Amino acid sequence: MPVLVMKFGGTSVATLDRIKRAAKRVGVEVAKGYDVIVIVSAMSGETNKLVGFVNETSPLFDAREYDAVVSSGENVTAGLMALTLQEMDVPARSWQGWQVPVKTTSAHSSARIEEIPTDNIMRKFAEGMKVAVVAGFQGISPEGRITTLGRGGSDTTAVAFAAAFGAERCDIYTDVDGVYTTDPRICDKARKLDRIAFEEMLELASLGAKVLQTRSVELAMRYKVKLRVLSSFEEQSDDAGTLVCDEEDIMESNVVAGVAYSRDEAKMTLVSVADRPGIAAAIFTPLSEAGVNVDMIVQNISEEGRTDMTFSCPTDQVKRAEKAMSDAKDAGKINFHDIVADTGVAKVSVVGIGMRSHTGVAAKMFQVLAKEGVNIKIITTSEIKISVLIDRKYMELAVQALHDAFELEKAG
Ligand code: ADP
Ligand code: ASP
Ligand code: MG
Repeated sequence: MPVLVMKFGGTSVATLDRIKRAAKRVGVEVAKGYDVIVIVSAMSGETNKLVGFVNETSPLFDAREYDAVVSSGENVTAGLMALTLQEMDVPARSWQGWQVPVKTTSAHSSARIEEIPTDNIMRKFAEGMKVAVVAGFQGISPEGRITTLGRGGSDTTAVAFAAAFGAERCDIYTDVDGVYTTDPRICDKARKLDRIAFEEMLELASLGAKVLQTRSVELAMRYKVKLRVLSSFEEQSDDAGTLVCDEEDIMESNVVAGVAYSRDEAKMTLVSVADRPGIAAAIFTPLSEAGVNVDMIVQNISEEGRTDMTFSCPTDQVKRAEKAMSDAKDAGKINFHDIVADTGVAKVSVVGIGMRSHTGVAAKMFQVLAKEGVNIKIITTSEIKISVLIDRKYMELAVQALHDAFELEKAG
């Protein structure tokens, strides 16, 4: 039997009624003759609640126990989904990550999937089971501890299963009906794309468009998984939603494919650091050892041998970053006068493969922001994206203005 992977995100399993609705969709695919692997997220809000419990209990928590706690939301929905399918007379059972087993690295809270043996589930399919419901987001480390794959990780579970089982397709059911030119919740002119290239999706995801977890796009690209994003709230035809595919399979496209944003940014400045060879290594090595994901970096002009070093990192890593820097100072590895954290910033980015061959995108982006009176704090660019760090209060305005200026409401 051909295998299909169907993933239901948090809002799609938020209530028993929604689980029933999702189960009906699964039943439709089973009736077409598929063996289905269903990947479920926790009910919406559950993972946030669990993360909150951990932070309140232990701000600089042991990541192994964080994983033990935050992985549990998915166990509930996996069991409930299997029960709902059984009530519909569809032969189904649930699997937690470790039971499959989904083997991961031991990088707790951001583990990577290394292997998914297919024999246990395939044996059950051979015995007549029609649906394997798997708890997304979780796995097991070589040490036998429960791991999680980073926020939004159920998307990655889904794509990894599709690759391991050679699934015909991986359908990601969510609360929007596809991938848009920007988040439709903050820009009402956002346009749904029928197709998007892997590389553009990868950039949009890594720059904050949370519709797919970055790692899931990477895996789909590497293992040539047919990846589709669609709504769990509407009746679906076979070509509904957005297909994430190779660049060559897209006929027309705009120079800029989309605008992404990330609210979850903090700007940290080390004030008055000695400007000497090796200073960047002396700052960023302890940050990386403390697990801080540094994103953008600027070193200011140096005066009288001292300079300010500014970088951005996720807001929830500010405490870790401050501790790593003060520890390094106490150990005599660096010397600075002050460390200032600004958690009121956001990153806005424009992404498009067309930027490889078109000039002027950066200039236009900066003009648009200037016209809106938005001050840019840090800029970074790569071949197919430009990102700016700005005050968070201007984030929505910036996204909308850029969407207008690059005419993303019109198809290319
Ligand atoms: P799920 O719980 O199903 O995994 P997520 O909340 O993780 O859903 O992702 C879906 C959300 O992603 C949408 O509700 C939307 O607000 C947001 N989003 C951000 N950027 C985009 C985009 N470019 N296209 C579609 N959705 C986007
Ligand atoms: N429940 C997890 C989260 O909220 C994983 C997921 O939904 O993909 O991040
Ligand atoms: Mg998600």
